[in-house]
Amino acid sequence: MGGKEILQKARAEGRILLTEIESKELITEAGIDVTETKLARSKKDAIGISDQMGYPVVLKIASEAITHKSDAGGVRLGLLTPEEVGRAYDEILASVSQKHPNAAIQGITVQKAARPGIEVIMGMLKDAQFGPVLMFGLGGIWVEILKDVSFRIVPLTKKDASSLIREIKGYPLLEGRRGREAADVTRLEEALMKLSAFVEKHPEIKELDLNPIFAYADGYLAVDARIILETKS
Ligand code: ADP
Ligand code: MG
Repeated sequence: MGGKEILQKARAEGRILLTEIESKELITEAGIDVTETKLARSKKDAIGISDQMGYPVVLKIASEAITHKSDAGGVRLGLLTPEEVGRAYDEILASVSQKHPNAAIQGITVQKAARPGIEVIMGMLKDAQFGPVLMFGLGGIWVEILKDVSFRIVPLTKKDASSLIREIKGYPLLEGRRGREAADVTRLEEALMKLSAFVEKHPEIKELDLNPIFAYADGYLAVDARIILETKS
């Protein structure tokens, strides 16, 4: 399904929250690198997809009603064998059905486990006065506790993309201090420019989150994506 169909389908179903798979599909069309992700509708399916993708894999709950997958016990990382995939599949369903007994579940996504990198986040939100605004920050505690993020109004210039990344307090982490590898900041800037163009093209999107993106010495990979649509457009 292409981006247009995804948006139409969600609308037709009266949904404003896109699933991770749908969000990743749209983000891929925007030219941003994301982890390969497929929907499994049974345990057998999940194992088959894992065998095909190659291990290690990650399993996550796919439900239109659940936005915070980890909180629901809906994420299992670093699965190395078909047995581990089978067990994780059951555990995710058990945990989610306990925490969200009424949530409709589409299935479970199987995705390539991304190699560790520096966790960063990119997002878009709409300001009442300025309209769409892009956000950049470091992932994990940096954003949750230290609120170390920066903002720029869409459309971004190249200079905006550059300063958006460089003005966060944690920027030295991306430069690779104390023997750590540096992040490919140029590719992150390119991703921000692509996101800006994508947001301009889709006024029907109200909110967007790529949390986290793993930044590497050569490129980056978004491992989670969430898109929320405007109620009317
Ligand atoms: P949530 O809905 O809770 O935000 P995420 O999809 O972000 O769920 O997954 C939770 C965490 O698991 C991420 O912050 C990231 O550290 C890790 N993770 C998620 N997907 C992958 C992946 N494909 N490869 C490696 N790590 C991942
Ligand atoms: Mg996430």
